Amino acid sequence: MSRRAVHLCSWDGGTETDQDPPEHVYCGTEGSMEDEQLTNDWRYVTCKRCLRVRAKELSTRAAEDLDRKVRLFDEAHAITTTLGHGNISTALKCLIRERDQLRAERDNLREDRDGLLEAGAHLL
Ligand SMILES: [Zn+2]
Repeated sequence: MSRRAVHLCSWDGGTETDQDPPEHVYCGTEGSMEDEQLTNDWRYVTCKRCLRVRAKELSTRAAEDLDRKVRLFDEAHAITTTLGHGNISTALKCLIRERDQLRAERDNLREDRDGLLEAGAHLL
């Protein structure tokens, strides 16, 4: 007897009232299957249809991820050039430097304020 293909099936064992496995497995193959023909772990899947469907999904997802990254990059680049920077990297370095300078100025102002409040405390 040849080994039958193992399909992906995200069945979690059902509930107490509904213990029947779903009618379809990942690849859409129908029919009753033995427990050892179903897995929810891709490492044990041997069904070529399941594996093909997954490869196509992963490929589609990778293409979508790339599209999204390109769109985000284009958006960031447009903001960067609008602000007058040559590229995203120099803009970030510049903005970080400005932020650090502003933080230092703020801390100096707070120290000045605290010093003035202390010096003038007797006037209050
Ligand atoms: Zn399958």
